[in-house]
Amino acid sequence: MKLYNLKEHQQQVSFSQAVRQGLGRNQGLFFPSELPELGDIDALLELDFVSRSSKILSAFIGEELASETVAQMVENAFQFEAPVAQVKEGVYALELFHGPTLAFKDFGGRFMAQSLAAVTDSDGQITILTATSGDTGAAVAHAFYGMDNIKVVILYPKGKISPLQEKLFCTLGGNITTVAVNGTFDDCQALVKQAFDDAELREDVGLNSANSINISRLMAQICYYFEAVAQLPKAARGELVVSVPSGNFGNLTAGLLAKSLGLPVKRFIVATNANDTVPRYLETGEWSPNATVPTISNAMDVSEPNNWPRIEELCQLKGWGLNELGYGSVTDQQAAETLRDMHNEGYLCEPHGAIAYRVLNEQLRDGETGLFLCTAHPAKFIEVVEEILEQKIDLPATLAKHGAMDLLSLERDKDFEQLKAVLYSVQR
Ligand SMILES: *Cc1c(COP(=O)(O)O)cnc(C)c1O
Repeated sequence: MKLYNLKEHQQQVSFSQAVRQGLGRNQGLFFPSELPELGDIDALLELDFVSRSSKILSAFIGEELASETVAQMVENAFQFEAPVAQVKEGVYALELFHGPTLAFKDFGGRFMAQSLAAVTDSDGQITILTATSGDTGAAVAHAFYGMDNIKVVILYPKGKISPLQEKLFCTLGGNITTVAVNGTFDDCQALVKQAFDDAELREDVGLNSANSINISRLMAQICYYFEAVAQLPKAARGELVVSVPSGNFGNLTAGLLAKSLGLPVKRFIVATNANDTVPRYLETGEWSPNATVPTISNAMDVSEPNNWPRIEELCQLKGWGLNELGYGSVTDQQAAETLRDMHNEGYLCEPHGAIAYRVLNEQLRDGETGLFLCTAHPAKFIEVVEEILEQKIDLPATLAKHGAMDLLSLERDKDFEQLKAVLYSVQR
């Protein structure tokens, strides 16, 4: 597999290099030079999730890794299901929260961990550095926890992620170090970028990123879009509209990649909270990020989405107009209202999924089938969900267990020197 740097097209790398480096020169994202041919899509859709995903990922990775190796990686990473649930006539939820940290980021995080282990010599030094608005951190921490030779440092905005979410990944210890930064998610992301720009630091600690910019995460996420279509009624193929609750836009990138591989999706919808840089851009053609505002769907509190250049590139390559994308942004109040409505209709959701559902309903036309992504388990946002529904909801066992453990996070300012000190100290 070959990939190129979106900022410096002459920089070409292999899958292994892209996985190890995360970002290219000048902070450019890697993008596949060629999209694989998958052949008969209907036949592919007949396969089970793990076999189908192995085929898709093998086709992408090509000769660099043996197909048996890829199959083993997929089997290790995808040990849970991605079921589709009907919410009402013609509208379905793709539940991506049945993994160990109860959010869709388990798919990408775990496949990324498998990929990194597969392309690294056992004596190589690796430090995973990632910024999270909540769920990536948990998924990365759990995916790498206990892996020899790999240190993980996770930055998150202090006080801006839910307490239980924090407990889920800041209680592990061992090779996992978590840092609560006095700042926003965008500040954390800026610190990570600065670290990757520091060649000496990068070399010294073997820096590697594991947030949604790593191509292996996106590749893994392509697979559950296929899984969703495989479960939906056949009549939905070609008339399917998919609504994606978006923050950093990795999930939407993966969906569009799935479509580019031949998955019969008619249209995608961008659903955001008040951090609506992309909906405003699609409306006006002007890219003008505002300051990030905190919302009840905090995993989407991102105003400068990292993955957007990949979407522009893909649309350009495929000759798709950006005007083919549906879009909408949803206020906290509207999200709460929709969450209540859904609950009354018999489906328990959380704010991120509710946002996708709301925008989908606004835009679904006659004859179309709607699918929205449920990116997290309702219990992961238990405080918000219980307040909105005015009732208690059950806590799954994993969350209950971590909730009772002590927080191990360090606290630091949004200061590069302080981050550097942490990165050197975890090596010892
Ligand atoms: C990360 C996350 C999102 C946003 O996904 P992107 O790929 O960053 O757009 C949405 N919902 C939840 C629950 C998340 O954790």
